[in-house]
Amino acid sequence: MLPDNEAQGRLGALGSPSLHEHKRDAQHGCAGARANHWMEQAIATARAGIAAGQSPFGAVIVAQGLVIAASHNQVWATLDPTAHAEISAIRLAAAERQTIDLSGCVIFSTCEPCPMCMAAIHWARLDAVVFGASIADAAAAGFNELRVPAQTLIEQGGSRVRLEGGCLAEICRGLFSEWRAAADSRAY
Ligand SMILES: [Zn+2]
Repeated sequence: MLPDNEAQGRLGALGSPSLHEHKRDAQHGCAGARANHWMEQAIATARAGIAAGQSPFGAVIVAQGLVIAASHNQVWATLDPTAHAEISAIRLAAAERQTIDLSGCVIFSTCEPCPMCMAAIHWARLDAVVFGASIADAAAAGFNELRVPAQTLIEQGGSRVRLEGGCLAEICRGLFSEWRAAADSRAY
């Protein structure tokens, strides 16, 4: 979907071992303009979900400069409590690539992965996750979150997945307000 060289460069930087070493972008609070580009797509996906009566979460999976999967939360649409944005995106990406090994991919999620999604990201062997809002933000919006930060799960579980939080965080947090303003917002 985005086979341009610029996108390749963005992923190249994100896919390097030095993800945590990138200087934080003072304006955006995340690893520079590279991450912003993909997070904006996750945000657009979340907004499509809000418009469809779903919960305000979106995720995209990027590999080699291409978005290979994008999904918003589909819990209400499918009556599947596990149909969070990240898990739905992982299912799409695995089907797209015909593999359970998503090494080399980075997932951009509008919200910090819950423990279920963080575990799924680990099992799928994604290289890294970049997120915007926090689990605490989702809990404040009324979601029945397990209050375990993704970083804690990674450290205690010994996962190699790299984590970068706070990407376009204000816009991602704003999704909760946009969702509340929608007619059919229901937390769970
Ligand atoms: Zn989740």
